[in-house]
Amino acid sequence: MSKGITYFSGFTKEKLKRAIREEIKQYDLEQEFESRLISDLITERHYYCSRKELRPLRFKKKFRPGAAYDFYGFFPEHGWHQVSWMQCINPRDENDWLKRALRDAIEHIVSSHKAAHPTCEKCGLVPSEHVDHVAPEFDVIASKAIRLLTACEINEAFSNFDWWSKEPFMLPNTHRAVQSVLEDHKTAKLQAVCKPCHTASARERRNIQLGEKE
Ligand SMILES: [Zn+2]
Repeated sequence: MSKGITYFSGFTKEKLKRAIREEIKQYDLEQEFESRLISDLITERHYYCSRKELRPLRFKKKFRPGAAYDFYGFFPEHGWHQVSWMQCINPRDENDWLKRALRDAIEHIVSSHKAAHPTCEKCGLVPSEHVDHVAPEFDVIASKAIRLLTACEINEAFSNFDWWSKEPFMLPNTHRAVQSVLEDHKTAKLQAVCKPCHTASARERRNIQLGEKE
């Protein structure tokens, strides 16, 4: 058995997750509780709270359909706010956040394409459910946009993020990375597809890529 590296308060990351899950398990939804361990973890390791020296004093789980629960902390002067203890252990991947924000920025293009093509463009048999980025793939477009940014611009994007707002992390429309994805969508090939066709298209593309590598 590997000993692992101590991450916080004498725990490895895995043991810490287990300890917190065990602790949280004891409480019902909406039941308020205190936890020194979770409070310390958030104050010291949460990407926002640690920078602003914020300490949640109490916690509660709230019901969320389709998920185990949403986790909330009570912050003096601010009240209850959703806070992720898991983000303190497996911190956000900035790349993923940027990609998600870029996806939100082109959402209007995707939804109008779908509205214009109510039937699957691939099989022509059933209603379309998704919009597939046939070429280039969204990941390629987004990665290219992110590569344009300097470390300083990335930092700035995150420091402008208002954690207290209910809005998710976003990039303004005037942002260089957003402009780049919007520009690329002028020529990108989109296809409104049903779920099975989406899966099939993605598989076809993967097979072509594998074929090219051989
Ligand atoms: Zn189809």
